[in-house]
Amino acid sequence: MNETPMRARALVDLAALRANVRTLKARAPRAQLMAVVKADAYGHGALACGRAARQAGAEWLGTATPQEALALRAAGDTGRLMCWLWTPGGPWREAIEADVDVTVSGLWALAEVEAAVRAAGVPARVQLKIDTGLGRNGCQPADWPELVRAARAAEERGTLKVTGLWSHFACADEPGHPSIRAQLDVFKEALAHAEAQGLDPEVRHHANSPATLTLPESHFDLVRTGIAMYGVSPSPELGAPEDFGLKPVMTLEATLASVKRVPGGHGVSYGHHYVTPGPTTLALVPVGYADGIPRAASGTGPVLVGGKWRTVAGRVAMDQFVVDLGGDSARAGDTAVLFGPGDRGEPTAEDWARATGTIAYEVVTRISARVPRVYV
Ligand code: PLP
Repeated sequence: MNETPMRARALVDLAALRANVRTLKARAPRAQLMAVVKADAYGHGALACGRAARQAGAEWLGTATPQEALALRAAGDTGRLMCWLWTPGGPWREAIEADVDVTVSGLWALAEVEAAVRAAGVPARVQLKIDTGLGRNGCQPADWPELVRAARAAEERGTLKVTGLWSHFACADEPGHPSIRAQLDVFKEALAHAEAQGLDPEVRHHANSPATLTLPESHFDLVRTGIAMYGVSPSPELGAPEDFGLKPVMTLEATLASVKRVPGGHGVSYGHHYVTPGPTTLALVPVGYADGIPRAASGTGPVLVGGKWRTVAGRVAMDQFVVDLGGDSARAGDTAVLFGPGDRGEPTAEDWARATGTIAYEVVTRISARVPRVYV
């Protein structure tokens, strides 16, 4: 059963998302924009965010898995759409029939695409990925000429069109990192080789959010923006979202489930890692690690209650945690704001990342399906 938003809710500000897309497009005025909506749009809801991004002018949507791409098609999205994380035996035929651009990083994938094309009876749109230095997916530069030759031969057979050539940065959130220049050099060489062999892609792309914000040279024909579109900073070193004119899209709130007076010396939550220093008021916030609140927030996570920042007292449990209100009062039913844009004094996703030793990407993405998304 779907929960009502009474216990907790992730408010998703689609107007802010649309404004962020426009801001990012203005940063890369000659490039198209791919709104990255993998992982349920970093926890914000892929269908609603994909639609809002399109409204704001995103020419492309991008997902990791083919299943994520097919879900967008099933929901009625008809625009350009790419997915990139394939395993052998994946749903190539379904993706090709649904007009999804599929990413190919090696010969095994090219063979699976051609087999799926024979079954589907329609040609595929293929984007070739080279690993310019991230060391994850993508064709190694040494194998690139062979992949290009095979893709070109498949084009000649009429089974596919190479629509894109692309790669992904390792350290774009650290401006000046030597790997950035090295990756761009490898990419340019790979593009030159592919084009000399007769490939004529529509789009060449390498930039994620940090590169879109800081490195115009990396924009090529298209930028793939995820985190910045959600109004979250790619890294503390780059600055805060507002430094780039971006507005956080998600606000995570919960309704206090109980407020009670306890004496001093009272242990709080599993393990009694917090003991009240004196008579005080404890408030119960009814979200826990099953909702995506990191257990690492135990004793560190900031929460706005009654106009003040409080800290998670003791351990975060599966469904709940406690904050100590000290001499302040509150009532069951009052709102606790875990994070949001910060304009009402609440912590931000970046504050949670700092407090829990992770990155703000993870803070928003891990909010689980048990928390209803409310589009505002
Ligand atoms: N492109 C690819 C291939 C990705 O995996 C991601 C996300 O990690 C992105 C683009 C978007 O990155 P960011 O959220 O930093 O904009």
